[in-house]
Amino acid sequence: MIRTDSRKCLRCSGCVGVCPRSALTLTEHGIVCDSRCNNCKICINFCPVGAIDLEIEGVRRHLPTKV
Ligand code: SF4
Ligand code: SF4
Repeated sequence: MIRTDSRKCLRCSGCVGVCPRSALTLTEHGIVCDSRCNNCKICINFCPVGAIDLEIEGVRRHLPTKV
């Protein structure tokens, strides 16, 4: 999962268009990412103002958990 910095985001919708998994949506609160995200980072590299980054909690979810 990725997170966006709503203070930097220009609401240009560019990241929504480049996401190959259609995981991003532009809402009144800014860009929202859903579970279809596979952390490919295409949107991070695309964003012209560096408003997108990987979310630490999302990365942790992919690590093995002890039972
Ligand atoms: S590409 Fe960057 S500036 Fe444009 S909507 Fe996405 S996060 Fe915001
Ligand atoms: S990291 Fe990849 S899959 Fe996730 S929102 Fe960005 S472009 Fe889409």
